[in-house]
Amino acid sequence: MTDCIFCKIAAGELPSTKVYEDDEILGFRDLYPVAPVHVLFIPKKHFANLGEATAGNQALLGKMLLVIGREAAGLGLTEGYRIVSNCGESAGQSVGHFHLHVMGGVDMMWPPG
Ligand code: AMP
Repeated sequence: MTDCIFCKIAAGELPSTKVYEDDEILGFRDLYPVAPVHVLFIPKKHFANLGEATAGNQALLGKMLLVIGREAAGLGLTEGYRIVSNCGESAGQSVGHFHLHVMGGVDMMWPPG
């Protein structure tokens, strides 16, 4: 997608701090982290969110989770982490290219209390 910032990051047209890359998936640090470790994993091929994912994305979605599980320790997430995907504007999705937030490095007990 020509006007998608994450497509541009995936294509190397915009800078990012990469933490993982293969032919289908890119992991990079969130520009505005909300946790000591806050990384985004995206498919290089554009789809907006889970609501737009198709059966053709099934293997890729599974692979993204397995990649995160494999890479987490190397990102310093040895004490656990949280994976979030905001689906749609009312859920807080601000970038319309599917992404998984991976956050940790701090006590993230939830619900609080
Ligand atoms: P969401 O609000 O769930 O769509 O998440 C989008 C995330 O992308 C936010 O956490 C932003 O901080 C992050 N973000 C936006 N632009 C960039 C960028 N150029 N590089 C890295 N992260 C970004």
